[in-house]
Formats: sequence, structure tokens, C-alpha cells
Amino acid sequence: MFGKILIANRGEIALRVLRACKELGIATVAVHSTADADAMHVKLADESVCIGPPAAKDSYLNIPALLAACEITGAEAVHPGYGFLAENARFAEILIDHGVKFIGPKPEHIRIMGDKIEAKRTAKKLGIPCVPGSEGGVSSDEEAARVAAEIGFPVLIKAAAGGGGRGMKVARSPEELSSALSTARSEARAAFGDDAVYIEKYLGTPRHIEIQVLGDGQGNAIHLGERDCSLQRRHQKVLEEAPSPIITPEQRARIGETVSKAMRDMQYLGAGTVEFLYENGEFYFIEMNTRIQVEHPVTEAITGFDLIREQIRVAAGETLGYTQDDVKIDGHAIECRINAEHPRTFRPSPGKITYWHVPGGLGVRIDSAVYQGYSIPPYYDSLAGKMIVHGANREECLMRLKRALDEFVVEGIETTLPLFRELVVNDDIKRGAYDIHWLEAFLAEGEPAS
Ligand code: ADP
Repeated sequence: MFGKILIANRGEIALRVLRACKELGIATVAVHSTADADAMHVKLADESVCIGPPAAKDSYLNIPALLAACEITGAEAVHPGYGFLAENARFAEILIDHGVKFIGPKPEHIRIMGDKIEAKRTAKKLGIPCVPGSEGGVSSDEEAARVAAEIGFPVLIKAAAGGGGRGMKVARSPEELSSALSTARSEARAAFGDDAVYIEKYLGTPRHIEIQVLGDGQGNAIHLGERDCSLQRRHQKVLEEAPSPIITPEQRARIGETVSKAMRDMQYLGAGTVEFLYENGEFYFIEMNTRIQVEHPVTEAITGFDLIREQIRVAAGETLGYTQDDVKIDGHAIECRINAEHPRTFRPSPGKITYWHVPGGLGVRIDSAVYQGYSIPPYYDSLAGKMIVHGANREECLMRLKRALDEFVVEGIETTLPLFRELVVNDDIKRGAYDIHWLEAFLAEGEPAS
């Protein structure tokens, strides 16, 4: 096992990793920008190193500074968290070249899954069901028209280098195809410096269902069930739950086994998430995230696994040490992403938190790195914290979430808490009847009642 880990991140995930390290008896090194000198992860780490000015490109994305921090502190491994360098294969390779372990998948797997066309090709080869579409990229309007005619309209044009929902365009008819193609191409070029695009069948009312996997890089891999992340705004997840209210145990076992077999065949190392759209009883692969995800705690709540600890263990060369039969689903969990944003316009609301009172009690977990008197800097994402509530079943979980939301008080900044207070009493949400477009439609309905 490692003696010292450097955490190449900030905010709640840096704290989350730090907590796992402490429980494993591993010393921690925090890195921070000048804007984060007062951050919680810096205060709680055994050592800290300032790696640059506020802009992420000069600090949290600054590979030479991170390498120097490893060398100065003697850290044996780096946990990248999510975002920043978590899915940068080059970073993983550079660390390995310098004798530092990267707590994450093998660089070649990060690279494959980072290229959406390559990812889809690989998934298909491994027996994972995919959205019907082009085999690889489409290079001409004629080719696009041929593929679209084959799979039928509407179709979705997606950027190969895409991420965060950017570079996607729907074409509903042959007439719309060519302009959708050129818009998607120019958006992709502007956002990612790469205008390669591919075509997929556009699914009308799918849910977003993702499978959590864990592998040890030695041919052992298991799945930890699914998360339902269909409540999205602009393709960004807002609320996540596990298990999905609409997936049966048989479906879970079937898709879970398909995915974990693929991970065994790849000799996948670490934690990963295979994302699907789900419609009419069918799963369609959209992408794989080769890192820990923001919403991982709902899976932890219902399985009892500490996913960060598992990431660290397998990165240190340990084998999984358990089988699929050791994974039991217990109850229901829901996560709310409490963003420092206006609850309707989602305008970021950085600034000083003048009052911060978090709920507690049975089944309530708060993962947050903010505190009363802390100022949320304007330079990074707006996630102020996550509340994860666990109950014996979905109904109990919703009731517990409602009472926990009633206890939560934040002053000084705006947060998305009022939105969750509306959602938790909404009939569609209570029935679990929503797809990936539900939240946008709900938000478009106008101002909330109170
Ligand atoms: P990104 O990497 O940009 O997040 P994804 O491929 O993960 O792109 O897709 C993001 C979101 O876009 C999905 O969660 C879903 O809401 C929507 N989406 C993606 N592919 C399709 C599709 N074929 N049909 C309908 N919606 C889709």
C-alpha cells in the first residue's frame, strides 16, 4: 500500500479522497492555487503545496507543477479526482514515467474512452449494446445522408472529441441534415479543435442509466449496479438516484454482467462508469467515464463499498478480493448537487457564505468542502456540496430527503436548494416517471409557486 498520496484536485472531491486516505492510514498532500489557500482540503491535509495562480490551466492543470509537488513531498501516487486531469492519458503516462502511480485506469484505456468514436467501436467489439449509427466518423454529406436514411430520422450528430454535451446537433429530416452537420462541425472545431463528427439515432424519451464498475487490471471486474441520472439540465446531471426506479433486478443483472465481462476482457483497472441511454427496455451505450464520478456516493450508500478506497487499493496492485455475489443492493439513495447558482436561471453565485447549517440524522451524508465564512471563488465549478440521502426504500428516501432539505440553511450565496424542495414533492418525481428531457420542461413551465 502507498505511504503518501498527492490529491490533484480541489473542493469536495479533494476532501473525499483525503478522508479515504486517512482511513487507510495514508499520508496526504494537498495542492492548491493561490485562490484556494483557505480551502478545507488544504487545512486537513498533512502537507500542502501551492501550485500556481487561480486559473486552472496554471494550477490544477499544470502538469510540471504537479510533478514538482510529487518530487518535493515524496508522494508515491496521485489521485486525480474528477475533472481537471482525471481523464488525461498523457498526465497518467508522465506520472508513470516519473515513477509515480496514477490512481486510475491504464493510460491506453483512458485514451480509447476519451475518443467517442473509438470508445463506441471498442464497446461494440466487447459486446456492449450501442446506439445505431455510423461506423466511425462521417466524412461527407453523402455518407451522412446514407447513414441517416439507414437508421431513420431523427438523427443526432455528435463530436468525436465531445464532452459536456457540446457539439451535438439534432437533424429531424433529410433537409436539416447538411446544415446540422456543418453547425456541429464548426462547434466541435471551436470547442475541441477537432471537427470529426459521427451520427447516431436520436432517441426521443430515453433515461440516462449508468453502470458502476470496478476492476483490478488483472482480469477481475464486478459491477455495483446502476445509477439513474436522467434529471439533467443542458446535459448536466442535477439529481441522481440508485437504484433506478425503472430497472428490474433481472435487467440489472443482465446489463451488469455484460459490462463487467467487457471490463474483465479489457483487464480494466480502477473505477469506471459505463453510460447508457435506456428506452423501451433496451440499453444503448453512449460513453464510458474512466474516473470516479460526482454521483458515486449513491452507489456507496446502497452497496456499502468505499469506491475511493477501492480505487486506491487496486492502483496499489491489490486484487479485487470479492466477487459479484458479495455485492448486495440495500435500499435506495438520492443525491442532490447543491450548486452555488440561482435555482432557476442557474447563474453562478460565488461569494462569501455567511451562514451554513447542514442537516444530519440517520441516512444523511453531506460531501462538501465549504464552511461558514468561506468564500466560493469564481474561478472553478459551482458545486458547493452534495447531499446524499439513504432510505430502506425509495419512498422512505424521498421523505428523508424532504425533511433534510427543510433543515438545510445557506445564506450569503444563492443555491439550487429551492429547486430540490420543489422536485421532492413533485408527483412525476415521486412516481419515478421522468426522462432526460423532464427537468428542462419543468423549468420551462415558469416561475415556481413560492
Ligand atoms: P457528453 O460527453 O458531451 O456528455 P454524451 O454522449 O455523454 O456526451 O451525451 C450527453 C447527453 O446527451 C446524454 O446524457 C443525453 O442526454 C444526450 N444524448 C446523447 N446521445 C443521445 C442520443 N443518441 N439520443 C438522444 N439523446 C442523446
